[in-house]
Amino acid sequence: MRGIAAVPGYVVMQPTTLCNLDCSYCYLPFRAADRRMGVPVAEAVAAAVEGWARAGRFSVVWHGGEPMAAGREHLASLLAPFDPAVEHHVQTNATLIDDDWCEFFARHAVRVSVSVDGPERRNGARVTRGGRPAYQRVLRGVAALRRHGIPFSALCVVSEPSPGLAAELYGYFLDLGVEVLGINIEEREGVNLRDNRHPAEAVSGFWAELTAAWRRDPRVHVREIEWTLRYAAAVLDGTAGELLPRQLDPIPTVGYDGSVVLLSPELAGFTDARYGDFTSGNVLTTPLAEILAGAAAGPGWIGEFLRGVQACRRGCPYFDFCGGAHAANRYFEHGRFDGTETDHCRNSKMRLLEGVLDHARDHGAAVVGRPGR
Ligand code: SF4
Repeated sequence: MRGIAAVPGYVVMQPTTLCNLDCSYCYLPFRAADRRMGVPVAEAVAAAVEGWARAGRFSVVWHGGEPMAAGREHLASLLAPFDPAVEHHVQTNATLIDDDWCEFFARHAVRVSVSVDGPERRNGARVTRGGRPAYQRVLRGVAALRRHGIPFSALCVVSEPSPGLAAELYGYFLDLGVEVLGINIEEREGVNLRDNRHPAEAVSGFWAELTAAWRRDPRVHVREIEWTLRYAAAVLDGTAGELLPRQLDPIPTVGYDGSVVLLSPELAGFTDARYGDFTSGNVLTTPLAEILAGAAAGPGWIGEFLRGVQACRRGCPYFDFCGGAHAANRYFEHGRFDGTETDHCRNSKMRLLEGVLDHARDHGAAVVGRPGR
């Protein structure tokens, strides 16, 4: 894997910076301000991605702030310019979902992913602007999705991996009826400065326990387990070196004002004396394809990051599994981009691989080969 691909697999778009919640682990700097994306920004991105969407699968992920805080009418005006071949996804805290929003999702074929951290007692970080628990509102939104038969995924943040938690979470999301589950071990990034160091055995134990729970009833696609099993199967086939894409997916994040941050959505909205505002251009003045074509030669931080990825390739035994692609984690943990190991990659790559393999060792290799059911 060398350099940055000229065509992304998806773009992230920020319809508003505003979020109606104030979760204690949130990394977003301007979530109290309602800065809305203008329709000309959506038109510029729609024109850029039309050809990519017609040539293959292509997604736009609407990710705020809270994207639904932009309002239905405004979000509809931002969706309108896109070619029907483009898939739309929304990452939402679900607290604003009601029958009208469900009709909106169905009408616009928007795929929904809900942020929720498990049962009520696990959601202490998810609070309203007034500091009150948001969980019951999340459940009301999920109930609306279920009433309308709208399939949904979930994203769960784990702040403290501990014995029993993974099995509890898997059972919860099974009952909730999610199709796909993503687990993020809390990351220290953006305005969230909380420590994310954990004992190695606690984190690998968490992933092993999650794998065991999934194997008992594998109805939910667990993103991290499927990645890992795909890698393990490739190692057994002797094809592990071919799993990573040939070039990094640039993941353009288009801010409310049209500015584009590549590689890490979490860098959007931040500035640094050395690196500036991390943007590589603005879709209102430069076509997205042109911004991508100039990426590696652009702002200094991207070149520095690519050197960091090469250092990972040379020195890290987990590289073929990981790919080393965690620009924001490197920056927010090291203050620069050419370092290698972070607490994030230890928690979510190294310990993940070890945990799933620990489970496979203890229960036989039959676990390998399950993804893609
Ligand atoms: S696990 Fe960490 S050190 Fe290893 S390749 Fe990934 S980012 Fe680099």
